[in-house]
Amino acid sequence: MIDSAAPDTGTNDKMDYQRILEDIARAAQAEIGKGKVADYIPALARVSPQKLGIAIETLRGESFLWGDAEEPFSIQSISKVFTLAMAFALEGEKLWQRVGLEPSGNPFNSLVQLEYEKGIPRNPFINAGSIVVADVLLGHYKDPKTGILEFVHKLSGSSDIQFDKEVMRSEWETGHRNAALAYFMKSLGNIHHPVEDVLNVYFHQCALPMSCRQLAKAFLVFANHGILPDTGERILTLSQAKRLNAIMLTCGFYDEAGEFAFRVGLPGKSGVGGGIVAIIPNELAIAAWSPELNEHGNSQAGILALELFTTLTGMSIF
Ligand code: GLU
Repeated sequence: MIDSAAPDTGTNDKMDYQRILEDIARAAQAEIGKGKVADYIPALARVSPQKLGIAIETLRGESFLWGDAEEPFSIQSISKVFTLAMAFALEGEKLWQRVGLEPSGNPFNSLVQLEYEKGIPRNPFINAGSIVVADVLLGHYKDPKTGILEFVHKLSGSSDIQFDKEVMRSEWETGHRNAALAYFMKSLGNIHHPVEDVLNVYFHQCALPMSCRQLAKAFLVFANHGILPDTGERILTLSQAKRLNAIMLTCGFYDEAGEFAFRVGLPGKSGVGGGIVAIIPNELAIAAWSPELNEHGNSQAGILALELFTTLTGMSIF
């Protein structure tokens, strides 16, 4: 753990993000070798553990990049933020009748907790919660997969992002536990569409490849209170944007969310592909990618990179 230091630069306008990125990256590189690349989805196991990328996008339109920041990787659970934003914008507060708002403190794919809580997932970022969100999208879109792609294109400004079919197939072949969660919720009335259709949406969203740069750019809308910085289009109401950020802070990092809030102090989301993205309201989004994960399923080097970022800049939401 790194102790908080005084910010080493003046105002944000003068913050030398590029130099800070270089310092962070050096420290993060030393973490490589300490974690383990996810292998329960075979297509993920093929990624080189040496990859390391970091990107910062600011609301002033600046980009700061390091290493493999422009190489697409499997965003996995980070996609849960995009689908939640879509479902929340469509359903409003009604959504919370079907999915809870409490941190889980349990692994992201726990069946025990779901049984205990009668088929209402603890929060929208555990797998069961995101599967319910996929079911909600099926109630609004003829083809939610196209809807998800269009949404991600709009937020990231990159229209070339497409589903990775190999990862998607790998998810289907190994996603027995996700199927169990979905069938279980179906039996309790919290899945309204055919389970295969719901899983198909969920497995596709997890199989989106995006780079750190694209992710940071896409998350700027959450740093900007729900308004797309480039066009001024409102995606979420002010209140929805606040709530989505609150869920990221409390539930965005599996059962390590408390420690992430403690060490980093930013709302964000991670995925088992080794990506992490976080935001500083009114200022920026930062994304890091390093495929080796710690025992909680969060990127070993990515967590350190974000911790160092808030320590060296003195910026956090607290
Ligand atoms: N597709 C993965 C699964 O459902 C997502 C895991 C994650 O990134 O948390 O198992």
